Amino acid sequence: MSLKTAKEYIESLRGMKTRVYMFGEKIDNWVDHPMIRPSINCVAMTYGLAHDPRYADLMTATSSLTGRTINRFTHLHQSAEDLVKKVKMQRLLGQKTASCFQRCVGMDAFNAVFSTTFEIDEAHGTRYHENFKKFLTMVQDEDLTVDGAMTDPKGDRSKAPHQQADPDMYLHVVERREDGIVVCGAKCHQTGSVNSHWHIFMPTIAMGPEDRDWAVSFACPTDAEGIYLIYGRQSCDTRKLEENADIDLGNKKFGGQEALVVLDHVFIPNEYLFLNGEYEFAGMMVERFAGYHRQSYGGCKVGVGDVVIGAAALAAEYNGVEKASAVKDKLIEMTHLNETLYSCGIACSCEGCPTKAGNYQIDLLLANVCKQNVTRFPYEIVRLAEDVAGGAMVTLPSEKDFKSDTVVGNSGETIGEICSKYFKTKEEVSTEDRARVFRFLENICLGSAAVGYRTESLHGAGSPQAQRIMIARQGDFQGKKELAKNIAGIQDEKK
Ligand code: SF4
Ligand code: FE
Repeated sequence: MSLKTAKEYIESLRGMKTRVYMFGEKIDNWVDHPMIRPSINCVAMTYGLAHDPRYADLMTATSSLTGRTINRFTHLHQSAEDLVKKVKMQRLLGQKTASCFQRCVGMDAFNAVFSTTFEIDEAHGTRYHENFKKFLTMVQDEDLTVDGAMTDPKGDRSKAPHQQADPDMYLHVVERREDGIVVCGAKCHQTGSVNSHWHIFMPTIAMGPEDRDWAVSFACPTDAEGIYLIYGRQSCDTRKLEENADIDLGNKKFGGQEALVVLDHVFIPNEYLFLNGEYEFAGMMVERFAGYHRQSYGGCKVGVGDVVIGAAALAAEYNGVEKASAVKDKLIEMTHLNETLYSCGIACSCEGCPTKAGNYQIDLLLANVCKQNVTRFPYEIVRLAEDVAGGAMVTLPSEKDFKSDTVVGNSGETIGEICSKYFKTKEEVSTEDRARVFRFLENICLGSAAVGYRTESLHGAGSPQAQRIMIARQGDFQGKKELAKNIAGIQDEKK
């Protein structure tokens, strides 16, 4: 069965035994939990849009493994055009959800693990690539959501995995058996982990010979024995628990999700192993996954940026200042920044090239430049959005006040009437619509959605310094020096 519907996806989660903890307690019906459900709706959108004929070209692809029609989120990119479509699909999803829709980490892991396992097998005569192809065929046929889990807790950052006082600071093998391995450890701030059917675990750094037991990659069902997930909280998240919460949520329907994923003596059968001790390939897997995910940000964050720009423009209109040249200029600047991010996402895709395994990889330098810009521009876009909207986005009374019929003062007016009166602008603009746009901006600039649009822009897919290291590596300074020497007439023998 290919192409699940959004409803089928949500129902499929109910059939899982995923162990989710939040606020110190186990959450049994996590699918309907008001703090979790918006993030499920977000992933569901990746299923729903695949059934919309308008988006079929972006949302679906032909499997290189089976020839069947699959959701693009499970696809191995076969061309630069596929890489471009991936970015366009992510922009579309960002526009439809204004959130992190979580399913890209799996897609990026598929493409990184596919090409890396091919090269490990070539060097070591292992069977990881076959294992992976079999696994991915199941993922494509069942249209599964898979989390790409990379970030270890890392403990003392000055020490390698084998030097840590607690070996669990990096996910590692604790027992090797005839039929598989047993692993212990954790992965931090895992996007979409609760909402994923399976996880692909990968190392988080390049490793040396003594880190052999930490050089491990495999696939595992999210509800496997020994796995439990501790839900990450977000700013203002408990607003979602308020009775009849709507306007104050800003984005009622959609949201992102991160969790701490703990693996406590989890058994992994041999057929799901993609790396098991071949430490010299840990770095390749990390670099390729990070490269793909840095490209991804040139799509998803741009789509969210489109909604932020739209909300700022609406706030200006509702405030009656949309014609002011300073406001127009700020919206232009926001658009310029947003489209620059998109240009980077498209550029690193167009410059993509085939890997030895046959799938396509982005241009690593341009993907890292893309993500480096993402660590900056959304912050400036948010600053300008706050500038255009004005302070009411953080000072507005609550939705309950606007709806209150409690009479106050001498005039006999209710709190609701007073709020509506004093937050009224133009005749034709309803105060409720104005409140909705302010609350949306509050949510995305500093509420729960700020996780996805701000801090994730900084640290997701690697913190800024990680991109600078890659830019230094890929920047070809020697080649550039030669260019300068040629034109300046500098000949080496004269030195
Ligand atoms: Fe996808 Fe963006 Fe979320 Fe990463 S941050 S999973 S690329 S939506
Ligand atoms: Fe991310």
